Amino acid sequence: VSQGAQQQELYDTRALQKLDSAHYMHPFTDHQELAAKGARVMVRGEGIYLWDSEGKKILDGMSGLWCVNVGYGRTSISEAVYRQMETLPFYNSFFNTTNVPAVRLAALLVELSPPQFNHVFFTGSGSEGNDTNLRMVRRYWELMGCPERQTIISRHNAYHGSTVAGSSLGGMGGMHAQGGLPVPGIVHIGQPNYVEAGRGMTEDQFGLAAAGWLEAKILELGADKVAAFIGEPVQGAGGVIIPPATYWPEIQRICDQYGVLLIADEVICGFGRLGAWFGSELMGIRPDLITFAKGVTSGYVPLGGVLVGDRVADVLIEKGGDFNHGFTYSGHPVACAAALENIRILLDERLVEQVAQSTGPYLKERFASLADHPLVGYADSCGFVAGLNLVRKKGAVVHDCEAFKPEQGVGMICRGYMFGNGMIMRAVGDRMIIAPPLVMTKAQIDEMIGKIRFCLDATLADLQARGWM
Ligand code: PMP
Repeated sequence: VSQGAQQQELYDTRALQKLDSAHYMHPFTDHQELAAKGARVMVRGEGIYLWDSEGKKILDGMSGLWCVNVGYGRTSISEAVYRQMETLPFYNSFFNTTNVPAVRLAALLVELSPPQFNHVFFTGSGSEGNDTNLRMVRRYWELMGCPERQTIISRHNAYHGSTVAGSSLGGMGGMHAQGGLPVPGIVHIGQPNYVEAGRGMTEDQFGLAAAGWLEAKILELGADKVAAFIGEPVQGAGGVIIPPATYWPEIQRICDQYGVLLIADEVICGFGRLGAWFGSELMGIRPDLITFAKGVTSGYVPLGGVLVGDRVADVLIEKGGDFNHGFTYSGHPVACAAALENIRILLDERLVEQVAQSTGPYLKERFASLADHPLVGYADSCGFVAGLNLVRKKGAVVHDCEAFKPEQGVGMICRGYMFGNGMIMRAVGDRMIIAPPLVMTKAQIDEMIGKIRFCLDATLADLQARGWM
């Protein structure tokens, strides 16, 4: 019996969809729209593939939500989790107590991270990690005798989570429009999006210009008011915006010059996603704080946190007394056990090196080859994240491409063909993005590129039939 047939016998999709729309409020979802269609019910995963309740096999080009770095179905992680649950399913790290997996994981993270990191603060998610950052940098400056240094500079279109601090630090207009955000003390500058804002400049010139927006903002506010700058090494949810090579080194120079703390949000970029343990290493920066989540457990169990660099940790520890902050699940033993086994897999299978030296460069070449498609204006990648822009008409340079009207929703049409043909690729406006599991082989990259090209053809035919091309 094929897997598909087994799944069909086991699940009543319509009944699940009915219960789902009756009771389950999904994140970032229009529920009227969802109720009309019915949710897709995912039931199983193995390697880079998923199966839904109809028995359909799907290639997961997004690693779940940028997180399943070691792929689905890793029995050794489930076994590690089971053993930990049997031994000690929970204990907190308040009141001068600790637990074995949390201690071991903190030490391992320190070993794997850049040399300025010797401490870890655990949370349950990336959002909570960024809430921790906000409180920690403000506390740091209070302890330094500079209580005025409270403002955090972030970027438009950044994603730093969905809690009040996380969504305020983020730069998503749609999120700020609901519920009176951002909270005070957070300001935003432009993102280093060459396609959108770099007309008339080389990429390198644009990288310096975009970093200059930070300097201008610091001078406008007064450096004595600025606590920190936060950014994703490569912006993920905003559409895989890969900055020019000149951008981050100039950001580092500016932060150094004005004494501003640098926070790298590596919730997506960490744990091998860009072909380095941390994206900061690839971008040539020395952040004071690194937010992590997702890839630390490959999403098998929720876990996040902050790597705290010596500049901040020394002050907090030596002068700070109690830092009045923490979560029930900070250092959750089961989550830490999952992370330890996940990182063992990344190390033993040399997956970070594989992405850096072999499959990452191969993906780059194969993904760039999609730029010959009539719908594709621009295709680029960095490690195992990649994006392409759907355009109505190509131009000699990227800035001369003619875009579709946003209300035409071409990205969503394309995403529909991808989903319909067993390929998960996400749409951010008309930019189509992927972040595949790091275990993806060269043959699987070929399979994925074939599927993407097939769906681009289908999208093209559809748009031509509508008279939009
Ligand atoms: N920061 C970044 C860069 C992210 O991509 C995300 C999640 N997509 C978050 C923070 C928030 O993480 P979580 O959803 O675990 O709270």
